Amino acid sequence: MTEIAHNMQAHWPWFWPLIVFIFGACVGSFLNVCVYRIAAGKSIVRPGSTCACGKPIRFYDNIPILSWFILRGKARCCKRPFSIRYPLVEALTGLLFLLIYWQYPLGAAAALWIFAALLIVGTFIDIDTMQLPDVVTVGGTFLGVALSFALPQLHGVAGSDIFIVNAIRSVTLSVLGIVVGSGVIVWIREGAQFIMRREAMGYGDIVLMGMIGAFCGWQGALFAIFGGSILGAAVMIPLVALRALKKGEGQNAAALRNIEVPFGPWLSLGALLYIVCLRAPVDAYFLNLSELLFP
Ligand SMILES: [Zn+2]
Repeated sequence: MTEIAHNMQAHWPWFWPLIVFIFGACVGSFLNVCVYRIAAGKSIVRPGSTCACGKPIRFYDNIPILSWFILRGKARCCKRPFSIRYPLVEALTGLLFLLIYWQYPLGAAAALWIFAALLIVGTFIDIDTMQLPDVVTVGGTFLGVALSFALPQLHGVAGSDIFIVNAIRSVTLSVLGIVVGSGVIVWIREGAQFIMRREAMGYGDIVLMGMIGAFCGWQGALFAIFGGSILGAAVMIPLVALRALKKGEGQNAAALRNIEVPFGPWLSLGALLYIVCLRAPVDAYFLNLSELLFP
């Protein structure tokens, strides 16, 4: 078996990456269904895929990414338009699965695929409804702890030959991540509420940071908060200001202050950046910082 895998690697280096991307795109297709059905409070397993007109969608019209382009974004049954978001979520999931697959041992990659899927579902539900459902974030946090136990590579723990030692170390890092992630966001929320005199972020963001900490550890949680906030501010402040200017509300500071923007998607983006490309520099930064502070 390993010889076959080795030969595959030598002769068709694109074979496994392609399989991973297709697998990710299929998962993305399911995530689209999850976003829609969780937001609407429906079961995610039953019934099978149906069009909004009630007709079932045939499997050949349900091919991730491709079907949308073949059907030119319209349902075959009733020509109802489908959002470009569906193929985009499928492509995004495929791409994230591939980036994770390239950088992590298979056990850690599998856990991070689940994490990425949870972040995608949470993000799009948050964008659609301004709510983060507990089934995603609280469920995801407990799942993160369980996966940290079963797959210690998730936190880079491989120091001992005895599985249970690695598992306990990994769970400790996961729980520390939950406490740091949720704890820091609680105090940022309190501080922002004190200064702005209104609710600055939701309860959902606190639990979301628990999930991010459970999978990424404390370094990843801190990066998600600070990296995500900087990214969010860099994109949202000009957008919100522009929108206010267009409406002629530029001088009205109160109107600017009252615009609601979901914070969760930016935390999720920070967490995804950490796991796919910034883990090494962020961890090195915190190590240097701790040596500088406590020599
Ligand atoms: Zn239809």
